[in-house]
Amino acid sequence: MKYYSINDKNNLVDFKTAVINGIASDKSLYFPSKIPVLNTSFFNSIEKLNNNDIAFEIIKPFINNYIPDDKLYEIIKKTINFEFPVKKINDSIFVIELYHGPTLAFKDVGACFMAQTINYLNISDNKSTVLVATSGDTGAAVANAFLDIQGVDVIILYPDKKISNFQEQQLTTFGNNIHALSVNGVFDDCQNMVKKAFLDVDLKFSNLTSANSINIARWLPQMFYYFFLYKKLKYKNKNLIVSVPSGNFGNICAGMLARKMGLPIKTFIASTNINDIIPKYLKNGFYETKKSKETISNAMDVGNPSNFIRIQELYNKNYKLLKNNLLSYSYSDIETKIAIKELFNNFKYISEPHGAIGYLGLKEFIKKNNNFQDVGVFLETAHPIKFLDIIKKIINVNVEVPVSTLSILNKKKISIKINDYEELKSYIKKIK
Ligand SMILES: *Cc1c(COP(=O)(O)O)cnc(C)c1O
Repeated sequence: MKYYSINDKNNLVDFKTAVINGIASDKSLYFPSKIPVLNTSFFNSIEKLNNNDIAFEIIKPFINNYIPDDKLYEIIKKTINFEFPVKKINDSIFVIELYHGPTLAFKDVGACFMAQTINYLNISDNKSTVLVATSGDTGAAVANAFLDIQGVDVIILYPDKKISNFQEQQLTTFGNNIHALSVNGVFDDCQNMVKKAFLDVDLKFSNLTSANSINIARWLPQMFYYFFLYKKLKYKNKNLIVSVPSGNFGNICAGMLARKMGLPIKTFIASTNINDIIPKYLKNGFYETKKSKETISNAMDVGNPSNFIRIQELYNKNYKLLKNNLLSYSYSDIETKIAIKELFNNFKYISEPHGAIGYLGLKEFIKKNNNFQDVGVFLETAHPIKFLDIIKKIINVNVEVPVSTLSILNKKKISIKINDYEELKSYIKKIK
């Protein structure tokens, strides 16, 4: 398997190069040159396989032989060594919880797989720097995955005062090879600084690597749990409708790639907050990027979703085809709060703002289509504890801090404020 740049199909690289570079030399994203289709026998007997075996089968064709089978299996075991419970909300709605990993968000899957892959490929030989912009959850997942990996420094850029207390507590207390920088601006400013740094010849010496979802080693493993979901709900023998709370559209794009590999998911819904670039695009055909607006679902405050170009590529950049394969709806903070209340009062389910938006998208679909042959699932992408400040104002519940994260609560936050790109640059130079 090779990977090409979406801007230029002749710009082909192998797995290792794609992982090291993160982004193609022409600034576009890498995309697999062939999408493998799994045998029907795989799906017929998927319930007999454990999650590690499923993940191995799915990812193997994308890796070629850059990682030997036994090592790949080991990486997978480390990556998904937690539960992915599917819970019933009512007869037609289920939720899959993706937040039982070490930093309590689905991003642990991609981040851990990527860190282990980089470690194995020995990319860190001559000291590399992972630069990552975060709207809240990425930073912690990436930092945790790279913590104490020899030769790697991780620099996290997060928008000052725009992430939750718990998220900031997570990001800024790792220490060691993890550096937290709070940026005076919004998430897009952080993302733009990262992009700029990659193109900056002055910084070539620091071997910058991206850990945002544009990196194939983070993007591809996100396919895993869509297969786990199918395994769990297959017995229902119904059409699967999946609603994914979306910001940069990496997660849903992985799901759509899984569908191309044969996974029977009938409908994908990208549910967003008021940063509604994609819902608007699918409605009127105009792709208009905007500065992101701040919401209570902060991990989705994205004004220019970086992975959407991959979804377009999945459908040969054909707008009509894309429209037939993706629905997208957007919701305000008020609607999100009402959904959190409804899920708790009616179903005793504690959700957080991102999952609640996923629920809203699913509900809208069901209302419009009302097909008893369908069964809907929304993704709960983060643990409610990460958004306790918000949830507590809406419903009167106590959420227990998972034992695994108790230890960070009393640690001192350490972060450095920066205002612009030049300050980032001098920081990178200073630590190297
Ligand atoms: C990152 C994140 C999202 C959005 O995922 P994308 O892949 O960027 O679309 C949704 N929910 C939570 C909790 C997240 O951390």
